[in-house]
Amino acid sequence: MNNLHIHPLPALRDNYIWIIHDTVHAAIVDPGDATPAMAFLQTQGLQPIAILITHHHSDHTGGNRQLLEQFDVPVYGPTQENISSITHPVQEGDTIQLQSLALTLNIIEIPGHTRGHIAYYGSSQQKSILFCGDTLFSCGCGRIFEGTPQQMFDSLQKLAALPAHTQVYCTHEYTLGNMSFARTVEPGNDDLRQLEIRAKQLRQRNLPTLPTDIATEKACNPFLRCQYPEIINSVKQHTGKTLSEPVEVFTELREWKNVF
Ligand code: ZN
Ligand code: FE
Repeated sequence: MNNLHIHPLPALRDNYIWIIHDTVHAAIVDPGDATPAMAFLQTQGLQPIAILITHHHSDHTGGNRQLLEQFDVPVYGPTQENISSITHPVQEGDTIQLQSLALTLNIIEIPGHTRGHIAYYGSSQQKSILFCGDTLFSCGCGRIFEGTPQQMFDSLQKLAALPAHTQVYCTHEYTLGNMSFARTVEPGNDDLRQLEIRAKQLRQRNLPTLPTDIATEKACNPFLRCQYPEIINSVKQHTGKTLSEPVEVFTELREWKNVF
């Protein structure tokens, strides 16, 4: 895994298409738009070997048809979602082997944003990588469109349990917006303040704030911190409700962010 490059391609309004490559072969994660993907493959001289899909939304799948007209590659994606271009449906516990990249990825089911949303997780002795679509963002999480708050909470907990050094490749550049909400909810978080300074510097230079990692998210992401007193108190003040269970705090936090 150490010889692999993982490159963000800005696409649509604020999406990233992640290209995993070894300078010869490439896997394409969530191609919402074929145009930037094709251009990158061509200028870098990369041969696509697979498309990986996390969930059915068009900003993650919209480029499939055009890519498949050009390249005959397998398309991996969730069994539980109706995505016509998928050739290899996968589910929790499945493992996929991208042989030409010498990369093995495990499938983790993380429902909530959509019913069948999956993540791709790879680990070696030195490194772990996670492609988590619209479930975990830097300092935020996806909206709950199809699942329940409990499902989303459980999915996020599942990701938070991965090794701390796991590099997290999210599919949207939502970091600064997420941070202003996170700061409102947990103004006393110094790690968050430091991270926001760095993120602003990156965005000023038009650079991605991603990948993030699990340790950073556990330190800064309010949706992974629903057991901390400052967050519980903020939610209590905002809603006027007395909440104790982390999942209740999470549910109110997500609602609050929806209208923030
Ligand atoms: Zn989505
Ligand atoms: Fe999306």
